[in-house]
Amino acid sequence: MRIDVPIIQKINCAHCGAPIQFKPGEIIATCRYCGFTQVIETGRAFDFEHATFQNNYDGDNIENLVHEWMRTGFTKPGDLARKARIIEKDLVYIPFWVLDINSLTTYKGIFERLTPPVVKEGKIKKRYNWLVLARKATKFPTREFDIPLEGKIPYDFRKIEGYAKILNSEIEQDKAMEKAKQEIEDHHRFLIKQDVDRIMEIHTKFEVGKATYLHAPIWFIIYEYRKKRHRMLIDGSVGIIIKGDIPTAKLGIL
Ligand SMILES: [Zn+2]
Repeated sequence: MRIDVPIIQKINCAHCGAPIQFKPGEIIATCRYCGFTQVIETGRAFDFEHATFQNNYDGDNIENLVHEWMRTGFTKPGDLARKARIIEKDLVYIPFWVLDINSLTTYKGIFERLTPPVVKEGKIKKRYNWLVLARKATKFPTREFDIPLEGKIPYDFRKIEGYAKILNSEIEQDKAMEKAKQEIEDHHRFLIKQDVDRIMEIHTKFEVGKATYLHAPIWFIIYEYRKKRHRMLIDGSVGIIIKGDIPTAKLGIL
C-alpha cells in the first residue's frame, strides 16, 4: 500500500491556528496540535462523533505478535519465524465511518430444489454498525476487520503516538451511507440465496441512525522471507491479525 503521497496543500487549524497539511482528495482533517477536527472545504468544525481505539502495541511488542503468528498454524513454512525479517512496521490510524443502520429486506423467490419448484417469501431484519473505509486509494480488507466497537473511546490527539501516521477521510458521510446501504443489500442477497435459488423481488428499507467517524490504529507490517516481501495488517487495539500473507512453503522432495 502507498500511504506517502506528496503533500501539496496547507490550511490553518480553525481552533488553534496551527498549520494542517492535507493531501489531494482529503475532506476532513484533524489538527495534530490541538485535536480539532474540521471540514477542509468550509473550515467548520466537524459535527459527528470522532472516536478511536487505544493502541496497545509499540514497535517491540508488535514484533512479538508477528513472530507468534509465524510460529503457529500448519499452513506456514516451518522456518518462517526463524528466517523472516521484519523490514517495515508502521502504525497508521485508518479512518472509517461507522454507520448505525436498521434494515428490513423483503423478498420473493423460487426454491428450485423441490419438484415442482415453490415460490417463497421472506424477510431479513437486521441492525448493523456498518463499517465503511473512509479512503479511496487505500486497500484495506474492511469486511475482514471485526472492529472491536465496545472499546471505542473519544478521539484524543494527546494519545496519538508521535511516530504514527494519521490518514484523513476522503469519503463524505453521505457517500459512505450510500455505500453501506448497497453493501447491506448485497449481503442480504447473499443470505437470501440460502433460502431461495432465484430471487424474483427484493426490496430493502433503511432506517439510518448515528454516524461515527473513527480512526483505528492499524499496524502495517512488511516482512521478507526467502527474498520475497509479504504483508500483514494487525489491529493495534486488540492485537488481532486482520490479514497476514502466508508464503507458500517450498515443496520438499518426498
Ligand atoms: Zn489546532
